[in-house]
Amino acid sequence: MPFTQSDALARVQPSATLAVTQKARELRDKGVDVISLGAGEPDFDTPDHIKQAAIEAIRAGKTKYTPVDGIPELKDAIAHKFKRENQLDYSAEQISVAPGGKPIIYNALVATLNPGDEVVFPAPYWVSYPEMVRLCGGEPRPIPASIGTGFKITAEQLEKAITPRTKWLIFNSPSNPTGAGYTRDEIQALTAVLMRHPHVMIMTDDMYEHIVYGDFTFSTVAQVNPDLYGRTLTTNGVSKAFSMTGWRIGYAGGPKALIASMRKVMSQTTSNACSISQWAAVAALNGPLDFLGERNAAFLRRRDKMLEDIAACQGLSAPTPEGAFYIFADCAAWIGRATAKGAKLENDVDVCNALLEEEAVAAVPGAAFGGSPGFRISYATDDVALIEAGKRLRRMADGLS
Ligand code: PLP
Repeated sequence: MPFTQSDALARVQPSATLAVTQKARELRDKGVDVISLGAGEPDFDTPDHIKQAAIEAIRAGKTKYTPVDGIPELKDAIAHKFKRENQLDYSAEQISVAPGGKPIIYNALVATLNPGDEVVFPAPYWVSYPEMVRLCGGEPRPIPASIGTGFKITAEQLEKAITPRTKWLIFNSPSNPTGAGYTRDEIQALTAVLMRHPHVMIMTDDMYEHIVYGDFTFSTVAQVNPDLYGRTLTTNGVSKAFSMTGWRIGYAGGPKALIASMRKVMSQTTSNACSISQWAAVAALNGPLDFLGERNAAFLRRRDKMLEDIAACQGLSAPTPEGAFYIFADCAAWIGRATAKGAKLENDVDVCNALLEEEAVAAVPGAAFGGSPGFRISYATDDVALIEAGKRLRRMADGLS
């Protein structure tokens, strides 16, 4: 019998980030010294005290099914985290734990979207937002943020994007792929718009909360404007800050009815997140954060080195990111030009292909993030590799004609 995809899946694009990783892997297997700036995860290991908590959980036999949306101990740790770090009150019934930040977002969308419902979010956006929205029958409505505003949308743009069909605003700060972090004042301006549109729910994606630089202070929507608390889902996770991408723990705080609906989704799909990972997450959230200082200092050093290299490349420009470990470089001035080896650059996919094939540097094209022409560089890799990547990038720029 011929296989046919469902209509819902046929609307979805495969992950471009994974495609780049695959291509880089193939070249590496052929012996090419590829530097990957494609990864979306820190190169640091999970801190020891967190690993230890997981080992103890295994030894104590915490290896069975747990309550669908999280063990009480983890919900308690999350409630304390929200109170301590974001001044937000969430009871256990207002908290959901899932196998990663990704399923948290997906569960919320699948629990709420009807065909034709619109979801707005700033572009460049994280690759999964539009695809998840499509999978749930909704209509993604990206709002293009310009490089001139540091890849942040303005209140006017948000106002224009909202229609009577808008169900959600997804708001990711600091952002993947641009690293753009909204200040409290910038969030305040956006919330003034949201106050005029009471039918719109807000989903914040605070995954990079703890990876911020200089004097930038992280704020989240419900904290900045408590009047929006009742229609905001504040999502977060341990993947990035605690270098726990493989453990698969994401969480959210929000209205009880929404959290109950997300629980219903999980009860018939994933069931609970891994029991052992949940105990590790308890240790992460209740434990010290001092290791972040050293890690963020390393990220900051790498960010500045990469920004310096980009500035030295004629035709590339990038705003200074406030957080995360990505830089989004605008490459409009490279389009229409040719590389030293004669490859014609018609778009940012060509730019990334040429960068990989001619200079063995893997970056992700802006097309994947609704941000053409540009490309994303992840600097979550070691300093030596980054210095070499910077040299190769400069060589590519110098060779363009
Ligand atoms: N949100 C953003 C902005 C991300 O960059 C990622 C991971 O890349 C996630 C959510 C999902 O994180 P997790 O690995 O916990 O599913």
